[in-house]
Amino acid sequence: MSNTSQHSSQTTETKFRQATAEYNFGFLDEYAKKEVRRSVLKAIAIPGYQVPYSSREMPMGRGFGTGGLQLTLSLIGKQDTLKVIDQGSDDSVNAVNLRSFIEMTCPGIDTTTKVTEANLIQSRHRIPEQPLREDQVIVLQVPYPDALVVVEPSEDKRKIMHGEADYSRLLVKLYEDIVKFNEITIAHRYPTRINGHYVLDPSPIPRWDVPKMNDSKALILFGAGREKKIYAVPPYTLAEPLEFDDVPFRVENFNDENGQRRVCHRCGCNHSFLDEFVDARSGQKLYQCSDSDYCDEQLKLKNGGER
Ligand SMILES: [Zn+2]
Repeated sequence: MSNTSQHSSQTTETKFRQATAEYNFGFLDEYAKKEVRRSVLKAIAIPGYQVPYSSREMPMGRGFGTGGLQLTLSLIGKQDTLKVIDQGSDDSVNAVNLRSFIEMTCPGIDTTTKVTEANLIQSRHRIPEQPLREDQVIVLQVPYPDALVVVEPSEDKRKIMHGEADYSRLLVKLYEDIVKFNEITIAHRYPTRINGHYVLDPSPIPRWDVPKMNDSKALILFGAGREKKIYAVPPYTLAEPLEFDDVPFRVENFNDENGQRRVCHRCGCNHSFLDEFVDARSGQKLYQCSDSDYCDEQLKLKNGGER
């Protein structure tokens, strides 16, 4: 390396150090955090209602969890322990990058991969298998906040429909599914009515996770950065997936062709949400718990406390 490039790399490093030192705790300025917190309070006061807020530019593309990130950064304090999950895993790229960004801009916080140790959980597309507690808050990253967007393109009209709790066109959509396919085919983002009024888009969690929102002990927050919306399912609130009397809502079943419940090939668990993948060596289909922390815990139980 020449002297010139050495000098330039040192300058860049110094600049980076200075920039790091100048970050406000939680990256966002205090005014931005205050606005997010006020929006959260409103979202809790009107369960399921999409509260508009002025989503800030973050140093990552919208669509990579900026809504969830702004919620986390506005809520986190030095006494908090954070867990970040992406599709059930703590180790995937999105989770690792979000976690290191939060660690960098929130000095003094703790991070963990264990659900039981965390009091703030940011998640993409899963609610942990382990039931959450009253002292925990889960923040879900949301790409599309409005469940009505599939039947009505105009936001103005959607707002009126939400206000009047008019979800007839959404129910017609579900009915059309039943006529065509003999069942409701929505796998993710299952429309769910909160506290008997607003129907929300629960983010792309699988149907498996929808019942966990009902009467949840933990506060569930949703942040859509690109669409600039925050909404909530407060603790102990009714959350009912849309259904018909004769076609009830059902979660995914993981039965094989003989009707036997598939088990996780790693921990043997027969009651978790499973991911399917193909084993590179044998070419066989394998099933494994989507929630990696839960899988580790089940494995520990199976091995009598030892991993
Ligand atoms: Zn497992």
